[in-house]
Formats: sequence, C-alpha cells, structure tokens
Amino acid sequence: MTSDAPLDLIRSHCEELTAKYTSLMFDISAGEYAVKGALRFSASAKEEGIPEVFHGDYQIAISIPRDYPKSYPWVKEVGGKIDTGFHINPDGTLCLGAPIAIRKTFDENPTLIGFVESCLIPFLYSYEYKLKNGKLPFGELSHGDLGIVEHYRSSFKVADDYALLGLLRILADDSYRGHLECPCGSKQRLRNCHGEQLLDLKPHQSQNAFLMDYVTVMGTVLKKGTPIPRAVLSKVVEKNVDLSKLEKNGAII
Ligand SMILES: [Zn+2]
Ligand SMILES: [Zn+2]
Repeated sequence: MTSDAPLDLIRSHCEELTAKYTSLMFDISAGEYAVKGALRFSASAKEEGIPEVFHGDYQIAISIPRDYPKSYPWVKEVGGKIDTGFHINPDGTLCLGAPIAIRKTFDENPTLIGFVESCLIPFLYSYEYKLKNGKLPFGELSHGDLGIVEHYRSSFKVADDYALLGLLRILADDSYRGHLECPCGSKQRLRNCHGEQLLDLKPHQSQNAFLMDYVTVMGTVLKKGTPIPRAVLSKVVEKNVDLSKLEKNGAII
C-alpha cells in the first residue's frame, strides 16, 4: 500500500482511541485506514448548562485521510440509526459542522481521540438530544452552503453581506494588512477591529479552502439577487473566473 500519511502516527492515534472505546477497531482491510465498530459513550453538556446525560451506541466507520492529520477524518454512521433528514452529506458522511469550525476544533487536539470526543460525540449527543427534545441543544445551523455562511456570520458577528464578503475576501486573497480599514463598516483599522478574528482563523485552513468558502458565500449572496460591489470582490476570483456575464447582468457592480 502506498502511503503518504505517517502510518506510525495513525497507528498510535488508533491505539489510543481503541484503548478507551473498546468496541472500536483499527481496520486497513479495504486499502484505507479506518476505525470501525460501535462507539459507546455517555455525554452531557454540563459546561453549557445542559445537564442531561445521554448514552449513545452507534455503529460507525471513521475514514482516516491519506494526509491525516493535515486533513481531518470523515465519518459514516452505518447502523441506520440517524435519520437521513438530519445532517448527512450527499456522500453519506456525517455533516459535523462547517469545515472551518471542525478544522478549528480538531486543531486543538489533532488526534483521533480529540476528533471523536470534540467533533463526533457532540454531534451524536446533539442528535440524541433532538430525538428527545425535538430541537438541538445549541441551536441549529442550516445544512450545506447556508450553514457555512451562518458560521462565518456568527464568528465575525456581522449581519451585512458586504461586511461578510469583505472580511472573508481578506482570507481568500491572503491580503491581511493591519493598518487597512476594516471592511465591516466600523471605520477602524483592521488590527483594532476584526483583525484578531481573521488572524485566529487563518492558520486553520489553506488559502484555497478560504477561497472556496468565499465563493460559497458569494454564491448565496448572488442567489438572493444582491449585486456584489468590486470593493468586496476577491482579487483571486476576479483574476481566475470569467465574470463578464455577471457584469453584464449587473450582478457585479
Ligand atoms: Zn449539515
Ligand atoms: Zn471590523
């Protein structure tokens, strides 16, 4: 098997995980690194003020990407317990949250145990909670593109589409300069306004991933019929995408 992922690291992360969650097993039979079996847990969100404890028992398959831990794992629930109307991606993997949010959480403890306990169990806990209470414990983001928009909106605490695009553009173009005016409309310099939030997000994703998120947000704004001013248009998008049609339609102003 060709391998670019460090197998020793994966093995040790798997051993650490399966020692604690003993119904899970490391599996390389299908030519990819995976952890499969039953994930049994008890969890509550006491620190969030939710004392309810749920005991979960889910059949899962965790796929470990070739470039782990640069990329985080993806997970399928294979026991058929999770309703397909819940957060499941079109390819059947669990939609654990906006990618940048998962990336940020995973980076705090980039091990399989960290991933399972900080990303996967909270997702399954939320599902158990919703089954019992009819709603999610921490509020629910929309699925897919809108979820990504909502996530950035709440991390930047901006309601305005142009402010959101202007901020995200800085990450998409990798053009942060602290002395520039913050695009949120505060008239302050970036370093005294959204600079800290931008610099906090930046190390967790590649410029290309931010560019894709920018394009996602741009797409949802255009879909609403809101034109995009050049001032918040990503330079990389401008350079690489043929925008003449959008310009003709008045979608770029
Ligand atoms: Zn989702
Ligand atoms: Zn600002």
